[in-house]
Amino acid sequence: MTQPIAAALNVVMLGPPGAGKGTQAERFARTHGLPKISTGDILREAVTTDTELGRAARATMDRGTLVGDDVMIGIVGERLERPDTHRGFVLDGFPRTVEQATALDRLMGGRGALVVVDIIVPEDVLLRRLAARRICGSCGVNALVEWTTTCGNCGGELVTRTDDGLDIVRERLKVYHRQTKPIVDFYSGRPTFRTIDGNQPPDQVTALMDKAICQASAVSRNGVRL
Ligand code: AMP
Repeated sequence: MTQPIAAALNVVMLGPPGAGKGTQAERFARTHGLPKISTGDILREAVTTDTELGRAARATMDRGTLVGDDVMIGIVGERLERPDTHRGFVLDGFPRTVEQATALDRLMGGRGALVVVDIIVPEDVLLRRLAARRICGSCGVNALVEWTTTCGNCGGELVTRTDDGLDIVRERLKVYHRQTKPIVDFYSGRPTFRTIDGNQPPDQVTALMDKAICQASAVSRNGVRL
């Protein structure tokens, strides 16, 4: 059973590509009425609409490497200023470097604790999932298993992400281990850090996540110093 949440709930989802961060962030955000902020979605939309940001980020994304920290910190800083984040948010895909994590702490000044969830999935499972993954070419959501050729949200055509090809996926996993995994150490000593076994059916992961986040947010509300 989902429990109601009283205070601001600021959630960060960690995990390698294919761990299910996007799907789980979407579900948690919807259930709790929070905005999901996915930096990958923001960048993909910028590429699709051909903005200056999109033109600058496209080649980096196609290589599977990371867009610069200053750009990403700027994007998230601006997004967190919008009023819909005052009750909290679910961040998916940010932070991805220790520098971004340090900046996020700065941005959080006075807004309450971060609940950080690290989703763990073995590498062979990640590779299988990414090879099978489809997204909507129009609205960008991850396709659910029951959608075959068209998006259940907007009717758009389902396509493979341009960075889900095997060579790019291998690069993204390397980048994850080199640049993103160190932020697990950055957060793991905090009382609001949780790990989740992501190698199980999505509904079970959703239930585990909900429980872990609600429990961690209670820890932070009960006055534990972070
Ligand atoms: P994602 O959808 O989270 O897998 O992100 C897709 C791509 O967008 C990544 O491979 C990066 O090139 C870029 N990207 C997304 N979020 C970030 C971030 N926080 N820092 C740097 N690059 C990012």
